[in-house]
Amino acid sequence: MDRAVSGSGRPPSVLRLRSYAKVNLGLEVLGPRQDGYHELRTLFQTIELHDDVELRPRRAGISARCDHPDVPPDERNLAVRAAQLLREYAGLRRGVEIVITKRIPVGGGLGGGSSNAAAVLLALDRVWGLGLGFDGLHPLARRLGADVPFFLLGGTALGLARGDEVYPLRPQVEGEVVIVDPGRGVSTAAVFTRCDDTLTPRENGPTIFRFVSRYLEGKGDAFRLLSNDLEAAALEEAPDLAGKVNHIQGILVREGALLTSLSGSGSSYFGLFREARQARRAHSALLDEGFRAVRSRTLTMDRYRKSWVRTLAQAGRARGWDQGRNGHHGNHGRQGHPRGRREAQGLRIDRV
Ligand code: ATP
Repeated sequence: MDRAVSGSGRPPSVLRLRSYAKVNLGLEVLGPRQDGYHELRTLFQTIELHDDVELRPRRAGISARCDHPDVPPDERNLAVRAAQLLREYAGLRRGVEIVITKRIPVGGGLGGGSSNAAAVLLALDRVWGLGLGFDGLHPLARRLGADVPFFLLGGTALGLARGDEVYPLRPQVEGEVVIVDPGRGVSTAAVFTRCDDTLTPRENGPTIFRFVSRYLEGKGDAFRLLSNDLEAAALEEAPDLAGKVNHIQGILVREGALLTSLSGSGSSYFGLFREARQARRAHSALLDEGFRAVRSRTLTMDRYRKSWVRTLAQAGRARGWDQGRNGHHGNHGRQGHPRGRREAQGLRIDRV
């Protein structure tokens, strides 16, 4: 029997994490960068839809399991890479078993893999006693992927550069979300390549600034300013999606969506609603038309943090995570790493 459910009354060793999805409320491609990526300006938003991630202490190896056939169980899994990177950075020998129950559609532009990776970083930072916090984890997060840093913060945030420079926004968006999974993924790389062929350098227009100021003023039409520059390329890449998207958009708009958009590079399409009854109607209309659709809600930064504070408090009580605690090796341990000590003083999530 797993010690985590032994009923001994002692705190469990298993950590249960919620790994939330995101949508891009807006996404502007400003142009290609020297490093081969694209300069972006995007409005990220976490939503309540989440994967469940369980972590169990292991003496040495890092392994993963997932109930979704398209999610690899080896080092191609972003959650595994996060654990490996953190262990290597801290110079530890400890291991972890990662079990992922997927609810976030895979390859849907909802950031599932990136979110799983950030969740693993935040939790292992605590149970391995590293104390890196957001600040110290940020450079590791951006090495794992452009969307990973956002999931250290959550809420409504502006993403600049590759999307990995993240700034929380004062107006946090609150609303109901309906997400449609058209049942086929779209390759992010292929969409960006296609985008390059048609990209005319975008005027450095203040669209997101205008959105923020109108939203702050309480103007209901603020969302009309937002768009996703990857949408045309994604639909060219997956022409079979185009017809579906028109149909989906028609239903969402009819039921009163403030915003309808592709998320990231697709393939998920979503509608944002002010009221639950509108979202409920849109959701059931989509199901009636044979679409796979889920209802969710936006998760503000405050609520995202509170969720993590609760999770990390549980992590602080978890037992069995100190095996090999003194197992530093190499010269990248906190004492030996030039940045380790400084970054260890980074903000702790439970103190902000
Ligand atoms: P991106 O735009 O970053 O490619 P996405 O949000 O569209 O991501 P994900 O669900 O993150 O979609 O999956 C993208 C790819 O990453 C899939 O091909 C999947 O096999 C792979 N992958 C690796 N690790 C994970 C993980 N932990 N969860 C989901 N997918 C993962």
